[in-house]
Amino acid sequence: MMKNSGLTPMMRQYYRFKDKYPDKILFFRMGDFYEMFGDDAVEAAPILGIALTSRSGDAKNSIPLCGIPHHALDKYLPRLIDAGRKVVICEQVEDPKKAKGIVKRDVVEIITPGTSTLESSLAPSHDSYLAALFGDNKKMALARLELSTGEFSVIEDDPDIIYDRLAMAPPKELLTPDDNSSDLFERITKNGSTKNITPLENIYFDFRLSKETLCRFFSVSTLDGFGLRYMKRSVSAAGAIFRYLQDNKQDRLKHITGIKIGLADQRMLLDAATIRNLELFSNLAIGDEKHSFFWAINRTGSAFGARRLRRSIAAPFIEKDKILYRQGGVVELFNDSLKSDKISLLFKKIPDLERLNGRLGLGKANPRTMLALRDAMLIAEEIRSYLSESSSSMFKTIYSSAPILKPVAEKIGLAIREDASPTSHNGGVIRDGYSKELDELNLSIKDARDYIAGLTASERERTGIPSLKVGFNKVFGYYIEITRTHTDKVPENYIRKQTLVNAERYITEEMKIKENLILEAEEKINRLEHQLFEQLVEDISQALPELISLADFLAEIDVVNSLAVLAREQKYVKPEIADECALNLTQGFHPVLSQILGSGNFVANDTNLNDVDTSLIILTGPNMSGKSTWLRQTGLIVILAQIGSFVPAQEAKIGIVDRVFTRVGATDSLTRGQSTFLVEMVETANILHNTTEKSLLLLDEIGRGTSTFDGLSVAWAVAETIQQHPSGTPRTLFATHYHEMTGLAAIYPRIKNYQVTVKKWGKEVIFLHQVIPGGCDDSYGIEVARLAGLPKGTISRAREILKLLESGEFAKSELARGLHARLNQPTLFDEAASSGDSLIVEKIKELDVDNLTPLEALEFLSQIKKDIEND
Ligand code: ADP
Repeated sequence: MMKNSGLTPMMRQYYRFKDKYPDKILFFRMGDFYEMFGDDAVEAAPILGIALTSRSGDAKNSIPLCGIPHHALDKYLPRLIDAGRKVVICEQVEDPKKAKGIVKRDVVEIITPGTSTLESSLAPSHDSYLAALFGDNKKMALARLELSTGEFSVIEDDPDIIYDRLAMAPPKELLTPDDNSSDLFERITKNGSTKNITPLENIYFDFRLSKETLCRFFSVSTLDGFGLRYMKRSVSAAGAIFRYLQDNKQDRLKHITGIKIGLADQRMLLDAATIRNLELFSNLAIGDEKHSFFWAINRTGSAFGARRLRRSIAAPFIEKDKILYRQGGVVELFNDSLKSDKISLLFKKIPDLERLNGRLGLGKANPRTMLALRDAMLIAEEIRSYLSESSSSMFKTIYSSAPILKPVAEKIGLAIREDASPTSHNGGVIRDGYSKELDELNLSIKDARDYIAGLTASERERTGIPSLKVGFNKVFGYYIEITRTHTDKVPENYIRKQTLVNAERYITEEMKIKENLILEAEEKINRLEHQLFEQLVEDISQALPELISLADFLAEIDVVNSLAVLAREQKYVKPEIADECALNLTQGFHPVLSQILGSGNFVANDTNLNDVDTSLIILTGPNMSGKSTWLRQTGLIVILAQIGSFVPAQEAKIGIVDRVFTRVGATDSLTRGQSTFLVEMVETANILHNTTEKSLLLLDEIGRGTSTFDGLSVAWAVAETIQQHPSGTPRTLFATHYHEMTGLAAIYPRIKNYQVTVKKWGKEVIFLHQVIPGGCDDSYGIEVARLAGLPKGTISRAREILKLLESGEFAKSELARGLHARLNQPTLFDEAASSGDSLIVEKIKELDVDNLTPLEALEFLSQIKKDIEND
């Protein structure tokens, strides 16, 4: 850092701050700008898309410099935060006019990816988590805070499970102890889905300090009430989050009202591979949300409803009463489309109550925030009124338990003007009739304001100058402006104040008297309005716990209504939730593909699994016939059922699934430094280690990533392991192109063969996409290769080889030898060598090309030709 005494006093002040935050970008307020200097400027300018200039720092060196206007902070700051940078805001904390010497400055806020609540960097339908991890190879705790809404939770579990939980909703920023040695930290760093990892000194995770911090914040003497008694690691992780917030000057956190314990065993755990393979939140092809499962089923109207739906999908219920509780709500709104439509309309209008609560708690509410809060509360009342005669226990409970906040809404309505400006400092915020003192102040200058307001008209008439106008600026106050052509008509009492290119500006004695009156009173009015506003915010903040609970109820209603709308629109059916390990779907269809293709173009299929006679289905069929689609649709239907939704089928009975595991497609993780086959086997190992008899396994093309015999052996052994699993046989769909696998059904009574049908039309293959009992004895690979346009010769050669392979004669055949030769010695000269003509090769090798005349070369060539012909 620069300690040069040749610096100007202001730059010395700058470095006093900068030295404290070497790893962050410092925004240094200078007048109407935030300036960045030195390396900060060099780093930030390209990200912000602004010009890099320089400033003379001392006699010899100039310092790189860039800056943004202070009013454009909200526009520029998210660019740095989204790029993973941390920004320190250093403000002028005294009025520059009153400052003696250098203006006093101080750091007022530090914004990091996980602590940013800037509206422009928060995606409306996504949660934005700051998370902390603490623990060891045995057990790990994950604390997560959504600062913009106040949702705060911890879970503590096996590191593998924590890894998957992190994958479900990767945080914007992850805090870790800096000397961690656990394997989990290494995996997370390698995996790359958590982008901003902030290592903190171990002391941040100190149990005693963390406990003290949390107890102080929640004003409790023990954390037992939160259920954290035996969760030391969680306390450490949660404490680290709080102390990090304190470091970042985030101390207004009224909207954080408690810590929830996310009990990992009360929700279905979906591992990272399954979330990816089932395309729950993004499609595999391009990686964006379009054509994902969430995209296809989301009919929520509000942003906070959409976030709730997302969370539900990532962690479906596994308890029957919870599933049925939500399903009951869906049934009610499914049957009452009139009510459901009205609720939909209201949710389309409702502001994001969850995040408005956050702004209130963070002390960042402005007059418009308050109006939006009022609107949300009033709409909530309307929504609630539709639940008055509910039949489902969910809506009955919500109707009777949701807090009634109409009086709070009305209080805001009485205080804030409908056209309130976005800041509370410059007046124009508080309604007439709200404060007697304010009304009196306004009244005291009514005459003076009327005088100024009428001045343009009265002076035009008096002077006969039609273009005369009255204006105001900060330097001269009120003035009368007259264009140069009319200056000869200016009355005597006008005092000239300013000359412009085409006009003159004047004041009068009387105007000045009125102006003084107005300005003096307005200063008081603005101060008073600000005070009244702050008081109102304080009063409304008292209702934060109720507001948070209201947002929670509303989010649930939006999700339930969204599921009802979807069910009506897509013709879903209510699934029966069973206790036994059954999975019976009649005419099931894929919730995403059927929407993309149009329901008439999608072939519906049954799925029937149970623990009596069909626990594992071997599904065969050519490539592109629809195997993956059937596997995926079965998984998605189970997830839908367990978030309380109706499902895409004609009839459905679903025994609760504790985990859905998938091994679908050969996803390529080469970018992460792992080979495809290794990734495939890692995912398979995870499944075999963690499955239980209540799980659903969707295995697609196990063993595809290696050679045929290798792959077939692995696939066969995996199927057997599942069938004889010590934790019970999970329901399994096993798609494979190894039709030899159909032999398993003859050995194991609970393994059944199914195939996806195709029709052969001459040598054409027509995909029917229908799943029917029986094994497919033909992989149709050659037909598909032909359809893909492989040359005719290649196709007929492939047919010959296939015939030999199938007859078991391949290894002994002449053809195989020829094939071997061709595959391994593809060049003319190598072929010559293999057929005993190595002499030719030898001759060529011996040839001294540099000393060969053209004639000799020609003779040599002619000799070779003869040799070959004679052979
Ligand atoms: P496989 O796994 O057998 O290679 P996929 O499941 O990937 O085949 O299906 C290939 C394509 O076939 C899908 O992208 C889809 O367009 C179509 N398809 C699959 N199943 C159906 C179906 N049931 N109805 C209509 N089209 C389907």
